[in-house]
Order: sequence, then structure tokens, then C-alpha cells
Amino acid sequence: MGIKMYKVMIFIDGTWLYRTLPRLAEQSGKGEFKIDYGVLPQVVARELAERLGVDPSGIDVVRNHIFASLPTNYDHLDEGLITRQNEFYKLLREDYHYDTELFNIDFRGRRVRQADRDPADSFQPREKCVDIALASKMLYQAAMPFGMDIAAAVLGDRDFTPVLQTVRQLGKRVLLVSVRSSCAQELADPEDRERVKDYDTLWMDDHIEELELRYEPQWLECQSPEHEGERRFQTTYRPRRGEPVYCDACRAAYAQRRVTSVVTSTYEDDDQIDYGPQAGLPVIGETLEGVVEFKKEDKGYGFVTTDDGMSFFFHLSDLEGLDFETLEEGREVVFEVKTLPVGGKAGAARDVRALEYEDEEEPLEG
Ligand SMILES: [Zn+2]
Repeated sequence: MGIKMYKVMIFIDGTWLYRTLPRLAEQSGKGEFKIDYGVLPQVVARELAERLGVDPSGIDVVRNHIFASLPTNYDHLDEGLITRQNEFYKLLREDYHYDTELFNIDFRGRRVRQADRDPADSFQPREKCVDIALASKMLYQAAMPFGMDIAAAVLGDRDFTPVLQTVRQLGKRVLLVSVRSSCAQELADPEDRERVKDYDTLWMDDHIEELELRYEPQWLECQSPEHEGERRFQTTYRPRRGEPVYCDACRAAYAQRRVTSVVTSTYEDDDQIDYGPQAGLPVIGETLEGVVEFKKEDKGYGFVTTDDGMSFFFHLSDLEGLDFETLEEGREVVFEVKTLPVGGKAGAARDVRALEYEDEEEPLEG
């Protein structure tokens, strides 16, 4: 007699999960919270095994689906933000083997974040297809003869009630994976009066520590041809598969070369210069301009975003000559890079000062 294997598929409402991240950030007591998508299937498998009373090796997570939307036709100022979103989904596909289904939302030339738009602008992005795509895929897999035994539904919107009910009517089981503060009551109901699930809900809130994406320092070898000395160095940066690795010194050298070449070349020549990998990133200690993007009044921190969409965390103690209480979102500032953004995680800023235009600064002479 063989051991019974449970085939599990994970279905993630990416839009909902993205909206939910700030809540998880609050609960974790951090400014930002990123999910480790490599760990999520492991947590699902282990928790399911516990609920089924079987060994975790009897749970086979055969596929992860994520459904989300991606802005198009947005303000060019959001280019950096969208590039990072695209890279994130690429990472999910290529490194974590998720099936990603992305749907475009037309932003009609506007900024992607509501906070960046004119408060008088009543525009609301119209999300298309995400719910229906998730529902269709789940039903399809539930109806397939050998598709799956259990659907792990990572979502929280009430709209999914009928699809979860139907999946169960088709003889498959449902594990609801959600976040307490972002889950519709009908789904969360421990008595399950709507008949949407077969097990106790897996609350991501209870696994925050484990689900958080962390960057453990690791040893890498610098691959720059111009590197001098010991090539091994320790870093928290996680290079994408196939991406060449450069140490801080070699990166700084590239960044310096870029600054020089931009000054000394025309834009046409510019395209042909090999800046090297990660050359678009600033270096630690570099002074950058940005705007205050978000401020958490009661916690005393906020984020600054640069023109190309990089985010930097700051604490009120990082402010120089600025008052945290009166500092308004949208305020233009200059700051020094304390740590770099890595893998979509914000960097940190220090010495955050008001941006003063040169003509204001010019001393009176004579
Ligand atoms: Zn190097």
C-alpha cells in the first residue's frame, strides 16, 4: 500500500495580498513587509499536514498560481515603480516557478499611487479580470480528473464565496489562507455557515515571522574583470539567477564611470556604454533627491521616493533641520543613502534635509 499523497494547488489573489501588506507590516512592527514567496508553499504544506494529521511529506504542492494586475498607460514618473513590479513577477515566475496571470489596468496617464494624484482627481483605476481569472482557473483545476485534491485559496474578498462553494461541490477541499483584518466575515466565520472551507483558516498573521522575506548575509564572489584582491565578500544582496555579481567597490567604480560618461558624452553615445550590472543603483553615501512619500505619524518614520521610484526609509532622527510633525507628504528633500534598496525592499536614508534650489541658496555678495 502506498502512502496517500495530497495534491495541493495554491491560488493567490495578488491584488488583495498587495493591499494587505501594510496590515502585515503594522502587525510585524516594521515599516514594510514583504512576503517570502518561496516559503509560503512550505507553510501551506506544513499547516495542511497538521490539519490532516499526516506527515508533511504526504503533501505535494504541485502548482502556485498568482493573479494580479499591472498598470499600463501610467505617468512616466512611475516608470521605476512599474519596472520593479515587473521584475517582481519575473522573479516569481523564474525563480519560484509560480504561474503568473497579469491583467492590465489603464491609468490614462495618471500616477499609479493615489497619494501621488491630484486630490480633486476622481479617477479610480478599474481592475479587470483578476477575480474571474482566479475563479475560472480554480474551477477548471477542480473539475479536472487528476488536477488537485485541495485548493489553498489565498484571498479575503467575499466575491469568492460562490467559487469556493463550487470547488467543494466538485469534491475538492478548500483551505482558506487569509489575514484576519482583511478577510470578509462570511469567509472568516469559524462556523463556516457559507460552506466555503474544509479546514480551520490558515491565518498569515500567525506566521508573520516565518513568512517575512529576509535577506541573510551570504558570501559571494565578485565577477568584475577589474576587481583587485580577494574576490569573496559578504552581502545581503540576492542576485537574480544568471546576474553577474559585483562587490561594492566595483559597483561604485561603475557608478563613478557612469557619472563621468554622462557628463562627457552625448545621449547617442550613452546608449553604447556598458555601465555594468546594477549600475543604475546609487552607492552608499551618495546624495539623492526625492519626495516624502509616506509618513507614519504615530510611529515616527516615513519613506522618501526618488524620481526613478526607489524608496528609502527614514526615522525622525534622520531629519536635519526638518520637523517631523510638520513635514508634509510630497515635500522635496535631499538625503544621503544609508543602505541600498535590495530585491524590492526599501533602502534607508540619513541626513534628510529640505531641498533648496540654488538660486535661493546663493549668498548675497558685494
Ligand atoms: Zn569587485
